[in-house]
Amino acid sequence: MIRDIVTYDIHSDDNPKVLTEKTRPVTDFTAEETVNCIRDLNDTLDDLILREGNKRGAIGLSATQIGVDLAMSAVTLGDKRYMLINPEITEKKGKDRLFRIGCFSLYEYRAMVRYNDDIVVHYNDVDGSDLYDEFTGDRSCVVQHEMDHLEGKLLFADLPNREADLFVPREAEYKDGKVPLKNHGRVFEQRRKLGKINVLSPEVYYSSLFNDYSDYVAYVEKCANERKTLVELIKEYTPEGGKIAEAGCGTGALSVYFAKNGYNVCCSESDPDMMALAVSVNAQNGTDVGFFNDPVDALEFEDGAFDTIFSYEVLETLEDEVLAKAVAEGLRVAKRYVFMVPTIEIAANTLKGNERLRTSAEWLEFINLQGYRLLRAKEIDNGGNVIYVIEKP
Ligand SMILES: [Zn+2]
Repeated sequence: MIRDIVTYDIHSDDNPKVLTEKTRPVTDFTAEETVNCIRDLNDTLDDLILREGNKRGAIGLSATQIGVDLAMSAVTLGDKRYMLINPEITEKKGKDRLFRIGCFSLYEYRAMVRYNDDIVVHYNDVDGSDLYDEFTGDRSCVVQHEMDHLEGKLLFADLPNREADLFVPREAEYKDGKVPLKNHGRVFEQRRKLGKINVLSPEVYYSSLFNDYSDYVAYVEKCANERKTLVELIKEYTPEGGKIAEAGCGTGALSVYFAKNGYNVCCSESDPDMMALAVSVNAQNGTDVGFFNDPVDALEFEDGAFDTIFSYEVLETLEDEVLAKAVAEGLRVAKRYVFMVPTIEIAANTLKGNERLRTSAEWLEFINLQGYRLLRAKEIDNGGNVIYVIEKP
């Protein structure tokens, strides 16, 4: 019998408990509830595969998702169906890595979760016999996700291996081939609502900058050193002594660095506190950066005023519509735009909490859909950040 999938509404305080409570082990393999559960799990997963396909070759469903609190999951790997009853991991042979996963009970969401990529699992077959199987790669991820269900853990649970917030995948928003304009990236508001924000708030992050640095000359060197690859790329695409703009300069460190190295630099910053800090960084370094109190999507510079505009830790915080405007505005005032953005692979402990993260493929897609020419894409920080150099065709 095909059953309805039990779903979880993250905006509601009244969700089915079966999804978030630990299941009971199966002890009687001939009991009616066991036999019915096996049958219905098979039927419901068959129906899901019929409707959804099995694109990754690994798909699963747990008893809790059809409303039964028994420790049992059905998983289809390639052509084979496994009924994992009372599963337990007996050996982890691989490495922990991040997997991007979805769940039929939280249909529109995805999360990045860390699982071991090669596990040995002991479980009972439908007749109660003992079986061992080894699962690797995506298969090991699906099996571990289903085992989380049996513990009452959903994508957003405080799993010890969990690294990321729920996010709405980009592909869900495609309509008529148009550029999707809202609500992608991680949904931090939802995480806040759940009281599960564990990243630095922008306020905490910025106040730590104000407190930590009194030596602004050393600070500029430190920032330029930490962002060496970005600095090198900006130099590569800008004539020596050329004109550089920075959109959203923050503390102004990189703008000041370029001014110290003979470039003609202007920067914009809309936050007056950050601007005040940037002005003192500039003064203490004896440089002559021009400051403009502009938002990144409305710069007061003339068309083509700069060789290069750059930004980092800025574009990923913007809503899509503002992002598209900000990049267009950058390429109005400068010949090329160099920007560094984090990807979804970024280490969670470096997030400030205001990012809207994309995969590197999604950033490329944004560039293509906006019709810009890509001059360079360089992954740094193990793929956690990417630097793009683009221009108008
Ligand atoms: Zn699931």
